[in-house]
Amino acid sequence: MSPGWEGGEARRPLPSVAEALAMVRGRAAPLAPRIHALHEALGLVLAQDARADLDMPPFDKALLDGYAVRAGDLEAGDRRLAVGELLHAGGTPARPLGPREAAVIMTGTPVPAGADAVVMHERTRRSGDVVEINEPAVKRGQNILPRGREARAGDVVVERGRVLTPARLGVLASFGCAQVLAAPRPQVVVVPTGDELVEPDQAPGPGQIRDSGSTMLTALANQAGGCARALGIAPDLPDPLRGILERGLEADLLLITGGVSAGQRDLVPDALEALGVECVFHKVRIKPGKPIWFGVAAARGEHPGTLVFGLPGNPVGALVGFLVFVRPALQALAGRPAQASEMARARLAKPFRHRGDRPTYHPAVVTGAGDPVWARALDWAGSADLRRAAEADGFLAFEAGDRDYAEGEIVGFLPMG
Ligand code: AMP
Ligand code: MG
Repeated sequence: MSPGWEGGEARRPLPSVAEALAMVRGRAAPLAPRIHALHEALGLVLAQDARADLDMPPFDKALLDGYAVRAGDLEAGDRRLAVGELLHAGGTPARPLGPREAAVIMTGTPVPAGADAVVMHERTRRSGDVVEINEPAVKRGQNILPRGREARAGDVVVERGRVLTPARLGVLASFGCAQVLAAPRPQVVVVPTGDELVEPDQAPGPGQIRDSGSTMLTALANQAGGCARALGIAPDLPDPLRGILERGLEADLLLITGGVSAGQRDLVPDALEALGVECVFHKVRIKPGKPIWFGVAAARGEHPGTLVFGLPGNPVGALVGFLVFVRPALQALAGRPAQASEMARARLAKPFRHRGDRPTYHPAVVTGAGDPVWARALDWAGSADLRRAAEADGFLAFEAGDRDYAEGEIVGFLPMG
């Protein structure tokens, strides 16, 4: 693999994707956990084991509508039992089940003492105060969920470090954990920069384009578990730019687009350094997205230093930079472990000719199931062509160096969602 060299007085190799990602991870510690109500906790990572406050089920529970019986009463051959108590969910039996008695029972109701089986309603026939049991072999324990089968009081029901999925939130609710301790969603501020930008609801004048970057990056950050908002478009003027970026430093993570390349109006690196943000790296051996800038602001009291990413203005460069570097940073802030799926693999459904001295991410669609999946590179006009990239399921990752890839070859695959 040929190293990418950066010009200038001190020529030094640009960091590889893996090196840059390791630097990001090294700076992205989980945010301090806080208490959250369950309805606000979807997707958060539990910071403390959650324990059951009671046995579940709290009683021996009928699993369907029917009759609670003693299995032994039916062994002798006479299949008729006297109909006893009527038991509804929410009530409790008033007395134990008598000999040769059957209680009418509804799903979810405590089984009366003495009963050891529930017979499904459909397998019985009632006439007056007598019920005939038509199920041939009634087994002890059938259709009863014994007390504590799901969990015992004091058991850990959701472990610390687990992502709170809808089903786990349901578990917490059933065991009385109405509040949870978890790292909060990282607060993200997005700042688009560039004198050529206008808002999406405006008609661009000569030389102007609409700001697509902040809409896309805000959505990406929300999708990755952050809580994102965009500030207004920052002009390519040092003082106003610095003022807007300073507001962005109140967030946990600041995402800037544009102004990080080598142009005369690429003022973002200087503005950030003037604000005391330490530069960890500027430029990475990657295509698209090479100009990416990453740094960390000084900590302020309880608040750890804001992570700051300057992504290139070209929308697909920004998209790739987000998926490769920012998404893992957001996950780390939220306390999620590094995900294996960040870099999956795909098998080429069509040959591909790669030309270039940087590892290249090319938008692709998944065309077939399998392990790895089959994927086909899209006909794409490069880093400004967001429209084609928006059809992709992810990006094929080709190594640096000119090479013709054959159909069926396996390469890296960075999934979109
Ligand atoms: P820059 O990184 O500022 O040199 O911008 C590179 C290219 O991306 C230029 O063509 C810009 O017009 C374009 N661009 C910059 N910011 C945005 C944005 N927020 N949305 C869409 N395109 C942008
Ligand atoms: Mg610009």
